[in-house]
Parts: sequence; structure tokens; C-alpha cells
Amino acid sequence: MSTVSKYPTPKEFLIDLPLYEIVTFEDEDLEEGRKLYCFNETLDTYCPECNQHSIFSRLGNYTTTSDASVWVDQGRFVISLGCSRNRSHTLFFLFQADGQTIQKIGQLPSIASLNLFDVKKYSKVLDKKYFQELTKSIGLASHGVGVGSFVYLRRIFEFLIEEAHGNVTSVEGWNESTYTTARMAEKIEMLKTQLPDFLVENKSMYSILSKGIHELSENECLAAFPVVKLGIEIILDDKLEKMRREQKLAEAKKAIASLASSL
Ligand SMILES: [Zn+2]
Repeated sequence: MSTVSKYPTPKEFLIDLPLYEIVTFEDEDLEEGRKLYCFNETLDTYCPECNQHSIFSRLGNYTTTSDASVWVDQGRFVISLGCSRNRSHTLFFLFQADGQTIQKIGQLPSIASLNLFDVKKYSKVLDKKYFQELTKSIGLASHGVGVGSFVYLRRIFEFLIEEAHGNVTSVEGWNESTYTTARMAEKIEMLKTQLPDFLVENKSMYSILSKGIHELSENECLAAFPVVKLGIEIILDDKLEKMRREQKLAEAKKAIASLASSL
């Protein structure tokens, strides 16, 4: 097992991790904490003031060293990032290092406002009701609410699977009774002509969706959240792509028709 994936990357720490979650580093993995403490890479994320994605880099004075334990027990530290278009557009993060743990204890803008931008585009291909649930779900997850955020996400995922299901029920040889009793991973397999390949290839990741809400722990839900969110995004990206293609074809048809009539 790789030791790297056990810990959030600096980007995940800054952008995705809910406040107050305590990450404990093993003796042999202190380097992973140093990567955050001495963060000096660039970060590609949403700038609320530019209202688009931008490249951020660190502001102010900060420690750079290869000493892996430099951050241990340092107490509070700040990571402040400036937008490359305008250095006064800043992202501010406050951390607390107690012993070999790091906890994010504050940030501005909020996680929700940093993450919502990326899903705005989906309002074009997702029913209003489900789009609102998607944003609600992201807001809840950013506050560390596991089960609640997961329930919304699960409903959206199931809705999208049902939509795909609706396209195949009249296909010859379709077995509705097998489908009805199938688990989520099997349903995805049965719907493979309607769903993006990535989802079908990784369908086992969605077995968690077959569990009852009462069987799920808060942490299990938070851990599964990014995977299910990714699945939803992949389905919606596919729909956006199809929509753009259809629009282009319609425009081409119109252009050809008007050219033909002018000749
Ligand atoms: Zn900016």
C-alpha cells in the first residue's frame, strides 16, 4: 500500500478538507506534513474575485526547508495565496499543528464557495431540483456533515441512473425484473450502453450505494463522497458534451440550409 494516499495532498488540504478534521501523521510520514507547511507550489483553483479559475501562489514569508519534522508542534500557521492575475485576490487558510497532527481551523473564502463554481455549469443538464440538492450536498460536506451530504448525492446519482434506465426499457431482450432486484454495480453494468465508460469500468466503487442509510457511518459517507460526486460529474460532463455537439450540428444544419437557399 502506498503511504502517500493515506494523507490529503496540500491541494486537498486547502481546497477539499472540511474544517476541524484532524489529520495524524505517522513518524515515517512527517514529510507529507512538511509539504503543506512549506507549501510553495502553484495551485489552480477558482478565484471568486476574477469569477474564474486562476493560478495561485503563496504570499508572505514562510519556512522552506527539507527537514520533514519542521512543522511538528508549531501551533498555528497561515497559508495565504495570491491570484496570479491580481495579487490582492487572496485565499487565506489557518492551520493548527499539535504534536504530529494538523487541523485546518479557518479559511476565507469558504470551502463551499471555492467548490460551487465548478458545478455551476451542470445547471444546464440537471433538473433544477437536483441541481439545488447538488449544491446543498457540497455545502454540507464542506462542513463535515457526512450522512446528510451523502443522502443528497445518492439521490442525484440514482436519478441519473434511472434516467439512463428509461432509455433502455423498450430495447429488445431487456430484463426488467433482473434490473429491479440488481445491486447498483450490476445496474451500472446492465446500463453500460447508456453510461460513460469510466463509470462502467469502475462500477465496484458504487457498491456503497446499495447499503441502507442506517448501515452507513459518518466517516464512511465522507470517504465515499468524492467518489460518488466524481461519478455524477462524469455523467453530467457526458451530457454537456452531447448537448454541445447537438447544438453545433443544429447550427451547421442551419448554415448549410441558408447557404443552399442563397445559391
Ligand atoms: Zn483573481
